Amino acid sequence: MTMMSLSEMARCLRTSRVLQRYLDGEADDLTAARVAEHLETCRRCGLQARTYQAIKEALRSGSRDVDDLALRRLHAFSRSLADTDDAG
Ligand SMILES: [Zn+2]
Repeated sequence: MTMMSLSEMARCLRTSRVLQRYLDGEADDLTAARVAEHLETCRRCGLQARTYQAIKEALRSGSRDVDDLALRRLHAFSRSLADTDDAG
């Protein structure tokens, strides 16, 4: 199986939509539990979460240029959601 199932993809989209709120500690308990569970099983969303955290930390520590690589990873992630034929 190389293709993501539709429900899996829907879960990824839902996760990415609440991910920032979750990382800011603003998601409700149920959402937070769902996101945490998904992040453990989904490498792509786990990577996205780490990327957001790296950006947040860079912003908090006053660094003015956010890691270029992190931004590129985010773009690659959103592209990978749109392009499901190589979900490896
Ligand atoms: Zn995912």
